[in-house]
Amino acid sequence: MKQIAVIGAGWYGCHISKKLLDLGNKVTVFERQSAIFLGASGCNQNRLHLGYHYPRCEITRSQSLKGFKRFKKEYDFLCEKIPENIYAISSIRSKLSFDEYLQSVSELAPLDKDQANKSMIIKNIENFINVDEEYINFEKAKKYFYKVLNNHIVFNSKMTKESVLQLTKEYDYVIDCTWGELSDFSFPRHYESNLFHLYKKKNNSKFALTIMDGYFFSIFPWQKEIYSLTNVKNIVLKKFKSFDESLKYNQRLRSDLSFIKEHRLACEKQVVRFYPDFHKHFNYFEPRFSNKTKFENSDDSRYVIIERDGNLIKVFSGKIDTVFDAEDKIITELNL
Ligand SMILES: Cc1cc2nc3c(=O)[nH]c(=O)nc-3n(C[C@H](O)[C@H](O)[C@H](O)COP(=O)(O)OP(=O)(O)OC[C@H]3O[C@@H](n4cnc5c(N)ncnc54)[C@H](O)[C@@H]3O)c2cc1C
Repeated sequence: MKQIAVIGAGWYGCHISKKLLDLGNKVTVFERQSAIFLGASGCNQNRLHLGYHYPRCEITRSQSLKGFKRFKKEYDFLCEKIPENIYAISSIRSKLSFDEYLQSVSELAPLDKDQANKSMIIKNIENFINVDEEYINFEKAKKYFYKVLNNHIVFNSKMTKESVLQLTKEYDYVIDCTWGELSDFSFPRHYESNLFHLYKKKNNSKFALTIMDGYFFSIFPWQKEIYSLTNVKNIVLKKFKSFDESLKYNQRLRSDLSFIKEHRLACEKQVVRFYPDFHKHFNYFEPRFSNKTKFENSDDSRYVIIERDGNLIKVFSGKIDTVFDAEDKIITELNL
């Protein structure tokens, strides 16, 4: 049995802690906030990717397919189906034609494009498909992790580089799951301040709409009747060299109501070009600011990187489903 300190209680910290506990270790989680999932894990689109989002990145497509299957096996009770889940290719300024798109995603699942149907009017598209991608119910995930990590989390404990050093002396291993906020990594990375918007759907039927491929948008179920609208063109407000700068930038903008409104209107303007009944079906709910850490790359890679510094293991997260890659690497690294 090893004594292990985990820092951060988002998807990565919670999942990895649960696995280490299952293997018979003594685990303590240190979380800066007073609750779990208050970082990106509670403020993202919660798409359980199958790969349709990544027509131009073969690595991420095949990783997504694997991640989807493993996530379903382990966390099926957190997954929600979306009966009408449309990926449509824009007829203007798409990086790929519909045929090219179909070709690149053909390995993911058998698709019969003639069987695809949709209940809403979508304009300015070349064609579309219905996919089996699901969404992750993060409120259920929170409840689950509160239950299984009960008594193992120490809240309101913000770690510094000095306190991490101290932990490495007191524990067999320390695992940093702060998504690049605390420890340094050997590769170039940046910290994005993100803004997207939430809407209330006026009727109950669940659907999702993603316009591809390039600077378009996605409307995706969030919780109950609430949906998120993310827009590739303007979701990234600014990139920073440190997480702290990105966090402070978001904090400042939260009270800038005219900026938020302008941003929302720009998102909606693009949506109605494709989905003219958007305002008939949705009411505005509220903005969501979030922070994303990314390594510098020109493609859509979203893999996990683990680096080690003595008994300090540093986790650089990818997507939610890549949490299993982190788990596998850590278990190998710790020889468990
Ligand atoms: C806008 C957006 C949309 C996204 N959409 C998707 C999607 O649809 N599907 C998908 O798979 N992925 C998506 N992602 C990525 C996904 O959110 C991340 O992969 C995942 O949440 C990372 O989890 P994490 O635990 O590493 O980080 P976090 O959830 O950020 O957790 C880090 C935790 O560490 C804590 N912490 C930080 N510093 C300290 C410190 N010094 N001391 C103690 N605690 C500390 C924080 O408070 C936080 O609780 C999206 C991300 C964003 C931002």
